[in-house]
Amino acid sequence: MCGIVGYIGKKNSLPILIKGLKRLEYRGYDSAGVAYIKDKNIKIVKTVGKINNLDKLLNYNDESFIGIGHTRWATHGSVDTTNSHPHQAGSITIVHNGILENYQELKKILTNKGYTFKSDTDTEVLCAYIDYEYTKTKNILDALNNCMKVFEGSYATAIMVKDIPNKLFVMKKDSPLVIGIGEQENYIASDISAYADETSAYIILEDMEIGQIEKDNISIYKNKKEIKYNIEQVEQDAFDSDKNNYEHYMLKEISEQENLMDKLNNIYLKNLDKIMDISKYNKIHIIGCGTAYHAGMIGKYLIENYSDFEVNTYIASEYRYQKIFADDKTLVIAASQSGETADTLACIKKVKKYGCKTLGIVNVKNSSIARAVDEVIYTEAGQEVAVASTKAYSSQVYIFSLLALKLGITKGLINKNEINKEYEKLPSYISKLTNYDYEDIISKIWQAKDVFYLGRGIDYISMLEGSLKLKEISYVHSEAYQAGELKHGTISLIEKDTPIIALISDETIALKTISNIKEVKARGAYVVLLIKEDLNINIDKECYDKIIEINATDNLLQPILNVIPLQLIAYNIAKKRGCDIDKPRNLAKSVTVE
Ligand code: GLU
Repeated sequence: MCGIVGYIGKKNSLPILIKGLKRLEYRGYDSAGVAYIKDKNIKIVKTVGKINNLDKLLNYNDESFIGIGHTRWATHGSVDTTNSHPHQAGSITIVHNGILENYQELKKILTNKGYTFKSDTDTEVLCAYIDYEYTKTKNILDALNNCMKVFEGSYATAIMVKDIPNKLFVMKKDSPLVIGIGEQENYIASDISAYADETSAYIILEDMEIGQIEKDNISIYKNKKEIKYNIEQVEQDAFDSDKNNYEHYMLKEISEQENLMDKLNNIYLKNLDKIMDISKYNKIHIIGCGTAYHAGMIGKYLIENYSDFEVNTYIASEYRYQKIFADDKTLVIAASQSGETADTLACIKKVKKYGCKTLGIVNVKNSSIARAVDEVIYTEAGQEVAVASTKAYSSQVYIFSLLALKLGITKGLINKNEINKEYEKLPSYISKLTNYDYEDIISKIWQAKDVFYLGRGIDYISMLEGSLKLKEISYVHSEAYQAGELKHGTISLIEKDTPIIALISDETIALKTISNIKEVKARGAYVVLLIKEDLNINIDKECYDKIIEINATDNLLQPILNVIPLQLIAYNIAKKRGCDIDKPRNLAKSVTVE
């Protein structure tokens, strides 16, 4: 993960580096550092913790017109100042995003050549190896080219060379890197959100490319040859990172779901031709990680309502290495908020070898997955800053509902006018759920050690997502269970006042779930029941302690509503526990390592 930045130009680099790092902090925030040239010397300042800690250590009177910076999400070596970036060896100073997989082997070679290492990181080895090649070749571009032949794993790297003080260098494989183009100044960043207000023009570095960046010139090389590059333009309004008086980005983003549904209706519902026709495939694989995987599992249920074949959802980190059954009649759908998720991207590369058609459901425009797939549908959720995903999830589910809708219409199974009305009602239904007062429920469960989430069928998938939200931001242990499965073991964990959150929105199996809720209630559990209104069943008051009614809508859209109270329960528990909601420990938003 991690965020890297760089600047070369006419302004003092330090404030620019810090500004970029703050914007990239969502990518990792366990430690941070910068390197810059001052009076011909490379100065390094680094420390553990968030960018604010680094900010306090910097001497802004140090004028410098070239520098690189890093916000780390440790993969190799503990979180301490020595392991944090930048790293330095001989003439080379670098920041790195990724994992150098053969670093142990290279470390041995370098140790035999006399190199010594201070840190436990793979990055320091990467740095020393560049120095080793540079010392041999005396030409940095040749050195980097040779390194690329040797390095295994992933890297996006910004490099300063001691005796070339007027240039920065970058190279990349399997981790993202862009170069922002300014007037007599240029920028480096893991993604353009870092500098979108400084420049709207940027270059996306592709795998195995090397960039040489001067203040007034950029050259890109591949296999030792200079190559032409495309200049991309930042979309206006792509990066709205204003908190708008909300206490946390997460709450802001939960609230935005109401308007987002309107926006999506305008973009897609009226133009279903923008949605891929999936009727010609005979197999669909959906891949994703974390929250996007849950959206994909909802997608499976929605599409299967109208397909005559099974749809399977896979965790990307497994799918990329497992035996798969796929061919040119298989559609592979990849869901990812950032569009940079390393495992998901690797799956896309894998399935292309099988001749599969690929579709991306992605939030960030022009991201690696968006560029790698045959077709992309953007979720249009706007920038999501909180690490725990909310609006990106509901917009992914929305897009899956449209894939199913189009399939159902094509097969003559859906009346479009009827369902359009349901899509249009989504914002007002969401507003009811975001305005609900959760305090009563929270006051009863916020101190719990464990929380269990129960549901059946598609409701169970919503509960997986609800449980993940709680774990991510409140650090409370929780598990989602298929309601009928609990009695096969896990019910032994239920004792007096254990919180159970149960969801019933599928009426075909509602009575079965109610029986399961009674089983935990009989063992003293504190039950919060989320239930679709107007269910045609009797629920006696003894089987729950609190009840939240959710508006009834079409089955295609119900999961979008069901998740809202779950997001807000997790948010309010985390708030009451005093957690750092937008930047939970150990997590990062864009997972660009395996
Ligand atoms: N592997 C490097 C480290 O542990 C970089 C990790 C990252 O991408 O943040 O320092």
